[in-house]
Amino acid sequence: MPIATVNPATGETLRTYDTLSPEAVEEKLSLASRTFDTYRTSTFFDRARLLQQAADLLEADAPDIARVMTTEMGKPVAAARAEATKCARTMRWYAQNAQDLLADEHPSDQDVKDSGAARALVRYRPLGVVLAVMPWNFPLWQVVRFAAPALMAGNVGLLKHASNVPQTALYLEDLFRRAGFPEGCFQTLLIGSGAVEGILRDERVAAATLTGSEPAGRSVAAIAGDEVKKTVLELGGSDPYVVMPSADVARAARTAVTARVQNNGQSCIAAKRFIVHEDVFEEFRDAFVAGMRELRVGDPLDEATDVGPLASEQGRKDLEELVDDAVESGATVLCGGQRPKDLADRGWFYEPTVLADVTPEMRIHREETFGPVATLYRVTGLDQAIEVANDTPFGLSSNLWTGDEADIDRFVQDSQAGGVFVNGMTASHPALPFGGAKRSGYGRELAGHGIKEFCNITTVWVG
Ligand code: NAP
Repeated sequence: MPIATVNPATGETLRTYDTLSPEAVEEKLSLASRTFDTYRTSTFFDRARLLQQAADLLEADAPDIARVMTTEMGKPVAAARAEATKCARTMRWYAQNAQDLLADEHPSDQDVKDSGAARALVRYRPLGVVLAVMPWNFPLWQVVRFAAPALMAGNVGLLKHASNVPQTALYLEDLFRRAGFPEGCFQTLLIGSGAVEGILRDERVAAATLTGSEPAGRSVAAIAGDEVKKTVLELGGSDPYVVMPSADVARAARTAVTARVQNNGQSCIAAKRFIVHEDVFEEFRDAFVAGMRELRVGDPLDEATDVGPLASEQGRKDLEELVDDAVESGATVLCGGQRPKDLADRGWFYEPTVLADVTPEMRIHREETFGPVATLYRVTGLDQAIEVANDTPFGLSSNLWTGDEADIDRFVQDSQAGGVFVNGMTASHPALPFGGAKRSGYGRELAGHGIKEFCNITTVWVG
């Protein structure tokens, strides 16, 4: 894949970039390693000051970097601004909380005595240079949710961003430099995915985090496993959205529209499969389909647009194939199911789509739909709803709409996902851990769990 900015709303190539030469990669690796040697002993106070500065700069840059993101990957510009602001908020959260999250832990006096020590404690020390392989769909957020905790823990970062967001990738390196982080604390590598293996095997790289598709995650984890290096994987999702009769069905249907089409439908935690109790099926279906029909599809730089183009031509083709396969096997198209006629001659747009009568044999039942396409299932009760919800290789997050506490307990107990969101859509928050189960990956980002992933949890025993 060439490293280039290609506007998904027009298909026009706006800028191309050369990949880094092996010599340039070596220089960056060497700088990262040297920087870690000194940066690892910096104080939380100093790191927090730099991260606060990065947050201030990012907030001031939000309108401009939002337009860059929208031009590179097509998200509506208001959502891009909100992404930048959320990144700044998360930087501040880690700047304020990292020291407490990583404070020494002291076992009880009795446990210390039983270990034979005069004193014993647990200290969280940084691991070193961490390679971050990141996707284009939230081009700032995916990186910041790694970088903010990693830098506060005393690690340094190397970013291999997706090839279609090079301007955002370079902006991030520049942002941390302008904030005052020592040269080499956070570097962007303009490289293709083929160059990842060599970097990952380099002894100066301690660990890796990857957010992206399952094949990419499997490859990086296999190489890291071979090198016995820690990884965190945030992979795909096909989140269920269960609606029970006791729910506020009108609100569930309104939220369902946003939950499905956020980021033009290209979010790992978008609700993708809507599983509705038969008693409220028609009510939910009619309101949901009406909401999907009302969405404005068009130029993502237009503030009034709800849904922009898919990020790539290949992404739209993959989505069309899933829909076509389902329709050929008997699924019913309740709305959409095609490219918008008025935008057919440019960009990679696709109409918000709802499919009913989906069966387990269809590809769409088990694969991730990365675009504004929802599947609708009718179930007879919570048992069947949970069965359908879990009938997927993925386990990122899950949603339940209900007015019944017993339903909540049952769903929390049985949902095979890394998150359960009740009466609201899944979203990430700096103070709450984020991550998946099953094929959605392992490890956690955000909160205390995220910052500890790339720490050397050191036992200190003094006799
Ligand atoms: P992708 O193709 O896997 O790309 C993600 C990153 O991995 C890019 O930087 C890509 O580089 C790189 N990459 C691809 N193949 C690789 C390989 N074999 N070895 C090393 N690096 C490789 O994913 P995508 O299509 O851009 O993103 C969409 C996927 O990400 C969806 O499945 C979505 O659900 C998932 N996602 C998950 C989360 C989460 O938090 N769980 C969040 C967002 C997205 P190139 O661009 O150069 O190919």
